[in-house]
Amino acid sequence: MTHLAGQPRGPEVVLDADYVVVGSGAGGANIAVTLARGGASVVIVEAGPWRDPHDYPSSAYGGMRDLFDEWGSTFTRGRAIWPIVQARVVGGTTVINSAICVRTPGDVFARWERERGIPIQPMADAVARHQDALEAELCVEVAPPGAVGRNNALPLQGASILGYESALCRRYVKACVGSGQCLSGCVAARKQSMNVNFVPEVLRRGGTVVSNAPVKRVLTEGTRATGVTGWFKHPESRKWGAKFTVRARRAVVVAASATHSPALLQRSGIRSPALGADFRAHPGTAVFGCYDDVVDLNTGATQGWASMAFRDDPGVKLESLAIPAELVAGRLSGGGAQWMERLRDYRHLALWVHATRAESTGTVTNGWGDRPVVRYTLDTADMARFRAGMVLIARTHFAAGAKAVLPGIHGLPYRLGPDELCRMENAPLDPRLYVGILSHLFGGCTMGTNPANSVCDPWGRVHGWSGLVVADASTIPSNLGVNPQHTIMALARIWGERLLDARSSGIA
Ligand SMILES: Cc1cc2nc3c(=O)[nH]c(=O)nc-3n(C[C@H](O)[C@H](O)[C@H](O)COP(=O)(O)OP(=O)(O)OC[C@H]3O[C@@H](n4cnc5c(N)ncnc54)[C@H](O)[C@@H]3O)c2cc1C
Ligand code: SF4
Repeated sequence: MTHLAGQPRGPEVVLDADYVVVGSGAGGANIAVTLARGGASVVIVEAGPWRDPHDYPSSAYGGMRDLFDEWGSTFTRGRAIWPIVQARVVGGTTVINSAICVRTPGDVFARWERERGIPIQPMADAVARHQDALEAELCVEVAPPGAVGRNNALPLQGASILGYESALCRRYVKACVGSGQCLSGCVAARKQSMNVNFVPEVLRRGGTVVSNAPVKRVLTEGTRATGVTGWFKHPESRKWGAKFTVRARRAVVVAASATHSPALLQRSGIRSPALGADFRAHPGTAVFGCYDDVVDLNTGATQGWASMAFRDDPGVKLESLAIPAELVAGRLSGGGAQWMERLRDYRHLALWVHATRAESTGTVTNGWGDRPVVRYTLDTADMARFRAGMVLIARTHFAAGAKAVLPGIHGLPYRLGPDELCRMENAPLDPRLYVGILSHLFGGCTMGTNPANSVCDPWGRVHGWSGLVVADASTIPSNLGVNPQHTIMALARIWGERLLDARSSGIA
């Protein structure tokens, strides 16, 4: 059991194992634990630090500083500059996410078969089998009554009055206490992020975790991947340390996320017409509702309510979202005395969001300092979905008793009453007028059977290479219309099993 948390300048650290896994998030942790359970030796190499729950920061600012990738400063380059939020920490983005667990919808597999030649079976059955196991292992449940909070109860009421289906959502959380702090890590250790279960299990099974270790490149010999290399980086001072190299006897698994995996493969000299293409997301935004009664949106499960009623038409998923006061303050417009006045409403605000099932695609390239550059703009059809989702949230607020909503659309009044919803319905579709955010990311190393339009085959193996597998959100070749962690984890486990099968049959 070894955890190597970085080395200052000094001699090169050299390790070897059957498999080296780059990244310890939803994909990386799951393929690593599958391989370790199968008896293989595994080294996980993670760019970020190891933080235990008792050591999580206590503020949103601290969360961005200590847990987020580049302070959350990655953004889309396109018509609008929208932040792309991911984590850089052992456990990956599962440390800062809301842990909502949704099974892969059947239409997703049908689409992959139609567009990518990936047969529905055995994929759909294998995903379902792993999702059954994951739900048991990660204690999936809805927030207990004492942890629901008004920010999650009000939309249930609003949706029921409007007559659409919604529910408290199932999350990878054991006995949530409703602190509303998932986005800066669950200090109460109730959320089952990868750093509290599968990564420690890899250690217990004899594996090694190397943290503070951003991989610079994948090492190759001919058309075979043989290991990874890079330099340790101190998480606070950001100073570079010693060089490290991890050699892989059987395979290198890249699971560094939808932005970092394509960038890493590009700077490692992997060539594919599809590499970095087909980047997708579920862009989202929030609409505040203003209530007479106290809501206290910072209490209750962070995202305890959801509705899939509009997944197909107009193509959005609705959710509640608890955020701390400092993030609310950053979202309210205005300045000086006017802004202070607006902040006085804080305890009376409810906040609900949407995730748009967008069809627009973008690209990822490796930029300066190994930072991924994401070019992505929502087209008009997606912007219409995006705006329609905001209107649905506003209607739900009014049905639940809100006196006004704060649309957050540039050019519209700060507050809109129930008779003014047409202002939102007819707002211009220019993305620059909206405060969008990207947190569900897909593509860049998409899977498929045709090397002309995919990077990996349906087992995550990079076309044309041996010993090189991708196992994260970057392989997903479409939007899902639901929260992605469950799908990413199941796929990573399938590919881990496949690697073990290949090992026992003597195939690399
Ligand atoms: C705020 C927020 C809330 C969310 N809520 C939910 C939710 O409730 N339910 C849900 O299903 N999904 C949710 N998601 C999305 C979900 O967390 C991600 O889709 C998922 O974690 C992606 O898994 P991944 O393995 O592709 O990448 P990640 O989990 O991001 O893991 C990638 C890891 O690779 C590391 N890495 C990157 N580059 C390198 C390198 N060069 N060398 C070494 N390591 C590297 C990173 O530091 C990171 O730890 C949310 C996302 C966000 C941002
Ligand atoms: S709401 Fe609080 S207790 Fe519940 S999972 Fe999130 S951080 Fe943990």
